[in-house]
Amino acid sequence: MSLPGPPPHTDLCGAPLPPLPTLGGAALRNPPETGAARRWMDAEVVEVRRETATTSTFRLALPSWEAHVPGQHYVVRLSAADGYRAERSYSIASPPEDVGHVELTVERLGDGEVSPYLHDEVRAGDTLTVRGPFGGWFVWRGTRPALAVGGGSGVVPLMAMLRHARAARAACREVAEIQAVVSFRDEAHVLYAGEWGEGSTVVLSRQSSPVGRPAGRIAVADVEGPLARVLRAATCERPPEVFVCGSTPFAAAAEAVLARAGSPTEALHVERFGPSAPPT
Ligand SMILES: Cc1cc2nc3c(=O)[nH]c(=O)nc-3n(C[C@H](O)[C@H](O)[C@H](O)COP(=O)(O)OP(=O)(O)OC[C@H]3O[C@@H](n4cnc5c(N)ncnc54)[C@H](O)[C@@H]3O)c2cc1C
Repeated sequence: MSLPGPPPHTDLCGAPLPPLPTLGGAALRNPPETGAARRWMDAEVVEVRRETATTSTFRLALPSWEAHVPGQHYVVRLSAADGYRAERSYSIASPPEDVGHVELTVERLGDGEVSPYLHDEVRAGDTLTVRGPFGGWFVWRGTRPALAVGGGSGVVPLMAMLRHARAARAACREVAEIQAVVSFRDEAHVLYAGEWGEGSTVVLSRQSSPVGRPAGRIAVADVEGPLARVLRAATCERPPEVFVCGSTPFAAAAEAVLARAGSPTEALHVERFGPSAPPT
């Protein structure tokens, strides 16, 4: 995956943007005690939770845990007896407040190499070889108001952001406004069902939603309310951020919708998961 570099930009008020906020980040960017290279480690799978018919969450206990920034990911490595190895990246779904653990939510792709193995073979009590956390671009530190738009398994890092915001508020820590707009095929495909709640808009592309939205792909009407709330919370010191995550076609569609809704482009972070999925 190639990540776009940060574009040159100014904030809403026309002034150059401040450097990436370091609230909580300065410490997080320090090399972990285990060294800066983030070594491979054997994590214990302590729970496997079914989210939908094709998606499960793997809860890992890490022997060398490092607080992540919501949006980061781990790499999972599978090794065969003949020495063949396959590695795949999986976003962290859990918040950094979940000390000692990370949760990875994996969609099973029928013709895939790694995701079917994880679904079909890995059980609680097994170990998985992992390395992380990685990623410095698609991250939300909770300091700037954010709009997060995701489709399918692209909602995983967004859930880490929401969970982080809720955990921070529950502990009376200051955290910026975050709004999520998430898109799934139908109710049966909704990840983390029941957890979206306040600050979230759930869009179903092939079924009318329980709140009466007709079936259809993500549209300007879905994002303009959440976007307005994020822009209202933004200041010159705390300009808004926008996160888009999903399949390549979903990300393209969401970017176009956000542009039509008037979303600021200067702080847009896009993460694409795979090349071939149709828009959710
Ligand atoms: C930073 C990052 C974070 C990621 N986070 C997650 C996550 O949280 N959850 C998750 O399920 N996946 C995530 N992915 C995707 C994941 O890394 C794998 O690509 C995915 O699990 C497929 O691996 P596989 O070995 O099963 O399939 P492969 O053997 O790699 O591919 C099988 C087939 O599926 C196609 N394909 C590959 N990836 C996708 C995709 N995502 N959507 C549709 N078609 C695809 C390929 O073109 C091929 O035709 C992430 C990827 C990146 C780069």
